[in-house]
This record gives sequence, C-alpha cells and structure tokens, in this order.
Amino acid sequence: MRKPILFNISRRRFLRSMGASTSMLFLGCESMDRLILGKPPADETVFILGAGLAGLAAGIELKRRKIPFVILEAGTQPGGRVRSMASFGAAEEVLDLGGEWISSKHSTVIQWIKELRLEVIRRTPALVHRFPLDPQRDKEFARLLKGNPRPTDAEAVQVSALEWFKKISRNSDFETDLKLWSHFRYGADPDQIQAGLLPAAWRDFPSEEIKLRKGAMGLVMGLFERIAGVLPAENFLWEHRLLEVEDTERGFRLVMQADGEEITFEARRVICALPAAVLSGIRGLSEKSGLPKNASFGKLAKGGGYFAEKFWGKNFSTSGGFGLTQDFVTWESGRRQNFQKGGLLSFSVGGKLGQEAGPHSLQQWRESLLHTLRKEVSPPQQDHLQNWSQLPSFRGSHFVLAPGMNRESFFRNELGLRKWVWAGEHTSQAFLGTMEGALRSGKDGALQLLGEA
Ligand SMILES: Cc1cc2nc3c(=O)[nH]c(=O)nc-3n(C[C@H](O)[C@H](O)[C@H](O)COP(=O)(O)OP(=O)(O)OC[C@H]3O[C@@H](n4cnc5c(N)ncnc54)[C@H](O)[C@@H]3O)c2cc1C
Repeated sequence: MRKPILFNISRRRFLRSMGASTSMLFLGCESMDRLILGKPPADETVFILGAGLAGLAAGIELKRRKIPFVILEAGTQPGGRVRSMASFGAAEEVLDLGGEWISSKHSTVIQWIKELRLEVIRRTPALVHRFPLDPQRDKEFARLLKGNPRPTDAEAVQVSALEWFKKISRNSDFETDLKLWSHFRYGADPDQIQAGLLPAAWRDFPSEEIKLRKGAMGLVMGLFERIAGVLPAENFLWEHRLLEVEDTERGFRLVMQADGEEITFEARRVICALPAAVLSGIRGLSEKSGLPKNASFGKLAKGGGYFAEKFWGKNFSTSGGFGLTQDFVTWESGRRQNFQKGGLLSFSVGGKLGQEAGPHSLQQWRESLLHTLRKEVSPPQQDHLQNWSQLPSFRGSHFVLAPGMNRESFFRNELGLRKWVWAGEHTSQAFLGTMEGALRSGKDGALQLLGEA
C-alpha cells in the first residue's frame, strides 16, 4: 500500500501551500500524485530553509545527486536579498534593489552566468567594490592603505575598522570616505565592523566588475529553473515561515507558520540558509547558532531614479560610481555605460539613515542631486526604494562581523546522526556579504551534509 502523506501535513493544506506557487509555476499531474502519495520518506529528505541564493545553491547540489529535498520559504518567490525591478521608468532599465555587482573574483557567480548564458555589463576598472568616490581621492586612499602594514591577526578581529584607520590617517576627508564605504558595503558604521574586513576591500581589488543586464534576478531565476524544471512544486513550499526549532532524539522539529496555522515537520537533515538577522526571532535558533546576543546587522537601503541626460559632466570625471553627499552613495547603474543621454542612477544609504530610510529618503536624494548638479531625476516612487532592515524576513542588509566577534564560536555545524548545517552569506569566510559567499556556502553546506566536503 502507498504511504498516505508526505511529511506530516494534510493533503488539503499541502495542496493549498502549493497553490501559492502556481502563479509562477505549472504543476504536472504526475508529480502531484507523487507528492501527495507520500514519497520520499521524511527521514531521507533534506529540509532547506530559505530560497535565497544559498538555499538554491544547496538545492542544486542535492538535485544533481538525486537526494530528495524540500525548500521552505517564508515569501512567495525565490531570491531573498536579490530583487530586480524590470522596465524601470522612462529609461526602461532594470533596477537592482539588492545584490547587483559581481567582482571578477566572484568565480562561482561568473561560472553560473556562463552556464546560464546571462548577458552582462562590464565595468573596468572596478569601482563599486572599493570606494565609489572621486577617482583621484580613491587613488590617494589606496596609496595610503597600501603604504601601511595590514592589521595583525589580533587587530583584524579585536579592533574596529575606524580605530585602526585612525592609526594610519588623520585626514578627515578620508574618514568620510571610510564611512561612506562602510555604509555602502555593509550598511554599518566603520566603528561597528572589524578592521579585518577593510584590507580585503582594497588589496584584493578586482580588475573588473560586472552586473547582469537584465538584473541579478536573472541569476536567481536561472538557478530556480534548474531545480524546478516544469515541476516546481515538488521542491518548494512557499509562505512557510519557520517559527521554532526543537532538537529531538532523532532529529529536529521544525515549527512553521503556513496558511495562518502552525504545522510541524520532523527532519533529520537540515540546511539552514536563513539570514543571520532573523535567527534571534526564531525560538531555539539563536542558541543553536551561538551568535552573541549583541550581534548587530547592517542597515542598508537602496533605491534609484532615472534621468534625461548625462549631467555630471566635469563634476565627476568617472562614468562609474561617485558619492554626492555625506550620506548617499550614488552610481551610474544603467546598461549604457558612458552614455550621454538618459539612464539610471542608483543610490544606497546605510547606518542610522539606512535604518530609517523610506519614501522621504528618495525625496532627499533627489533634492541633493538637484542642489549639487541642478538637474532633475525622476519623481520618486515608493517602490523605487528597498529598506532591507524593515522587512521581517531580513531585518538587515548584511551580517556584520563586529569588533571582538570570534568566528569560530558561532555557526558550528552538527554532523552526527542528526545533521544541521548553516549556510548563507554570513557563513562565508572569504566572501562575506556577497552573492558569491551565498552561492558557495549553499554548495559547501550540501556537500558537508552528504559527507563529501
Ligand atoms: C542593498 C544590498 C546590496 C547588495 N549589493 C551586493 C552586490 O552589489 N554584490 C554582491 O555580491 N552582494 C550584494 N549584496 C549581498 C547579497 O545580496 C547577499 O549576500 C545574498 O543575496 C544573500 O543570500 P542568502 O541566500 O545568504 O540570503 P537571503 O537572500 O537573505 O535568503 C534568505 C531567504 O530566507 C527567507 N526567510 C527569512 N526568514 C525566514 C523564515 N523564518 N522562514 C523561512 N524563510 C525565511 C527569506 O525570505 C529569503 O528568501 C547586497 C545586499 C543588499 C541587501
């Protein structure tokens, strides 16, 4: 006789949860039968929490090995902190409101871009991964940093980027640059991040950077389709928000909110690819992660507008990025680099202003452009700005390694009979806070779980 139900949710609820995904997706009858009739057994199934890049990358590895898995996601679509707005305004550009720039060192992302045949826009030299400011000041800044020794191993962890920086420079302009960079890169003030995060930003400077012509969401959808094929509901449960995790003798009890009700899953193997900032709101997860109670997270908001003609002229000799005021980092984001006519400008704002950003910030940004350059960008619209720290599924833009935080003491994997593996940008050693870090962590997490790493 066939086993009755997959996991422990009722047929009716399961069908409804799949209904949430059918706006994007088509479900074949054959797979429907298989799902409802209860294959595969829960013991073997890997539960992936979160359908951001890390969760998707983990899913792809499992799919390659034909390991049964299900991705549980609080939202209604994949991508997490990657979000692109298509056909943006009169410029008909794509506005990336989350992950956007890909360094030439981001080999995993680049490999996927090739495999999925996604079109890119290139920018040489790379600016955004360092200091998106005036190029002359950028050069002087680089000279200053290169002319000084790196922080020692102890300093790199114990001392803040600001404290360390003050040891090598008393130039207040540079301190402003440092703050803008730190806001732009991590959404946090330079006294909140470890000194060790700073050197990587200039010494391992990429030769080139790229972005996806149709937005970073193209990468997400490419990965999603690799997993989903034409039978997407098989591996995804949308609108399933994790509320609580309990350790049990044989594994883990995952308590989820779905369809207004609480449901539970018994799991033996879990890959947790949720943002670090949400963990403290999930019962049982904060302790499990080992993250200190005072862990803080970047507060970055990102937005954009379009303009009719290139207007910065001699004010900014670069066609790349530039900072306009002490608060906003603004950069040219459109598909036609060096264009003379209309296009797209993006901006980001971090720290306290990033935390509070809303429609008023778009207005302020527009006014600051008008004031500085006497030219107009498009009238601001609310959905042209995303404040990541105000969304319950993110509560921050990036994980921040604060001074004194010891990496070894948190996100430790449990790999006994019951297996719990951490993934997500925050678990990446070398590519913290990037799409590269997210993809690598998902793949590595899956391999560890399977004992192949
Ligand atoms: C404004 C901004 C700009 C950025 N710019 C760049 C850039 O230029 N280049 C770059 O490489 N990177 C950039 N990043 C970083 C990059 O976007 C992220 O590192 C990466 O997308 C994180 O992927 P992830 O899978 O680790 O997490 P996420 O994308 O956050 O995915 C986690 C998923 O978990 C889900 N979730 C949350 N809570 C629950 C719950 N309780 N139950 C179930 N599901 C839940 C979320 O809905 C989400 O889908 C930027 C990020 C931001 C915010």
